[in-house]
Amino acid sequence: MRKLILIAFVFMGVSACKVNPFTGQKTLNFYPNSQVFPSAFAQYDQFLTENNVVTGTADAQMITRVGQRISSAAERWLTANGHPGYLADYKWEYNLVKDETVNAWCMPGGKIVFYTGILPITQSETGVAVVMGHEVAHALADHGAQRMSAGTLQQLGAVAGNVAIKDQQTLGIFNQAYGVGTQYLGMLPFSRSHETEADRIGLQIMAIAGYDPYEAAELWKRMKANSGGEAPPEFMSTHPSNDTRINNLTVWAPDAAAEAAKFGVTKFQ
Ligand SMILES: [Zn+2]
Repeated sequence: MRKLILIAFVFMGVSACKVNPFTGQKTLNFYPNSQVFPSAFAQYDQFLTENNVVTGTADAQMITRVGQRISSAAERWLTANGHPGYLADYKWEYNLVKDETVNAWCMPGGKIVFYTGILPITQSETGVAVVMGHEVAHALADHGAQRMSAGTLQQLGAVAGNVAIKDQQTLGIFNQAYGVGTQYLGMLPFSRSHETEADRIGLQIMAIAGYDPYEAAELWKRMKANSGGEAPPEFMSTHPSNDTRINNLTVWAPDAAAEAAKFGVTKFQ
């Protein structure tokens, strides 16, 4: 029996590895977009109906504009690097929600929310682009589905070798991974490595979108000053420390600017 379980794990590990085009690394992901995205889209819509969405203001328009510029930069990068069609299932949406919490988050498939509480920290459109790049990067790198996959392995351990993931089970794992009922999935913290990866990818795509990558470290200095040592929820728990994050972004900024130059972007906003 134990052997059988081992074989099942190995089989799933082999068949479920997907290469992240941004890092070139294999990641564990059992779930195709077609399984994850519909659940995420439904949950996002539910969140919007239950919260105070800001529309028509200059701030709301800025969130949409930055989101569109960043996701379009990601599309250009993916196409240029041999991954056209990577975003086919994505349905990008960028909403501003009236809430004093200093936070922003993203659900699988490109469903993003900014709270008005983060705007005093972002301060400018470029500051919004730093956070937007990070959130879009979580969506591009399938961090949500990877979190679900980790939950699946735990469950598989519990049910000893039952590898058939039926729809109902998928829903259960989705709900468990994302804490439906108490918290929406985008609000739960990612692992430290996912946060660092989102910082690095986000920096590159914000630069390709024409936003100054050297402003990213500045945003995180303001975040650190504001938090008094505590990070906002999406960046919580296992997040890299603010100092690590600021150092990383400072070191990576020239690379991001160089990447943007490949796309003809040499002046930044
Ligand atoms: Zn994050």
